Amino acid sequence: MIKVGINGYGVIGSRIADAISLQKDMELVGVSKVHADYVARHAKSKGIKLYTAGDKSEFTKKGIPIGGTFEDLLANVDVIADCTPEGTGAKNKSLYEKYGCKAVWQGGEEHEVAGLSFNSYANYDSARRARFLRVVSCNTTALIRTLYPLQSSFGIKEARAVLIRRAADPSETKKGPINALEPDENIPSHHGPDVQTVMPEIKIRTVAVKAPTTLMHLHYVEVELDKEASKEEILRAWEKHRRIAMFSFSDGVRGTAQIMDYARHMGRSRGDMYETAVWDNLSINDSTLSYFQAVHQEADVIPENVDAVRAMLSPETSALDSISLTDTSLHIGIGRTT
Ligand code: NAD
Repeated sequence: MIKVGINGYGVIGSRIADAISLQKDMELVGVSKVHADYVARHAKSKGIKLYTAGDKSEFTKKGIPIGGTFEDLLANVDVIADCTPEGTGAKNKSLYEKYGCKAVWQGGEEHEVAGLSFNSYANYDSARRARFLRVVSCNTTALIRTLYPLQSSFGIKEARAVLIRRAADPSETKKGPINALEPDENIPSHHGPDVQTVMPEIKIRTVAVKAPTTLMHLHYVEVELDKEASKEEILRAWEKHRRIAMFSFSDGVRGTAQIMDYARHMGRSRGDMYETAVWDNLSINDSTLSYFQAVHQEADVIPENVDAVRAMLSPETSALDSISLTDTSLHIGIGRTT
């Protein structure tokens, strides 16, 4: 059993903890939480062992038992998934080195924190036995999910994408905008170079806009392929990847609301949509392919984190076997319409 700990039990950490608990080859040792809030209380009610890097007395005063300090957790795990807020995770690296545990960071950290950025399909093999890994952000994961099969099957001359980003997660009330559209001041945005941390061979330019919504980012993607391909051939290339789910306007899927509703119909934990959702109204003009895709920002990196742990600590498992184990445990690909 691979012993896993989680540092930072928020949007991403709580989901990774649940996903780890579902794996037959992994054990969730515990999670580290700073504050004794409703999320800590709920974790406890689920039987998750809590540790803290904060003030232990805050937990005891509220009657929430604590298993120990954050460092006690580190002493008992093979790997820690660092899910602390953007920019915080890198500061923990020396502690992970001190305790000899492996670590997986999230996309809010720079590539350099681990020196190896990860996507399950694109570079699983290079992550085998790695000491440190970084799972790329939700937007980058979604872009790689659809670009990697295109690159493998047809080759990519250049990709361009416009990213309409959700302003805040559903539980966040301090972020915005709530009544504006905010273009990213950087043209191109950082997302293209982030894709290149996993697929350095791809030429890609992205721009981003923040929109007042809390669920899902929407991407418009335009790809100049090396060779011409029919719509059927593109769909066939994507079909092999269960983390891509196809949707149709003709089925009433007009936007992100229907995709999130579909995820709730599937009965997923928290109504999560792990797959990158792609509309099937692809346009192909000579060798230029255009499509829309959407990504549930809270959920899409969760399967990649599970695979990252397996790549680091179960080197005998192949990429496709790990993906299959993870997807089966999270019901990914079940009920797909293509
Ligand atoms: P979050 O704010 O929901 O959760 C972070 C948790 O860490 C909170 O529970 C917070 O109390 C705790 N925390 C704060 N300081 C800490 C510290 N010093 N030590 C330990 N815990 C601490 O954040 P999140 O959205 O889950 O993001 C975590 C990481 O995942 C970031 O790198 C982010 O960029 C990345 N990410 C976020 C999303 C998303 O849409 N939310 C998607 C993909 C990747």
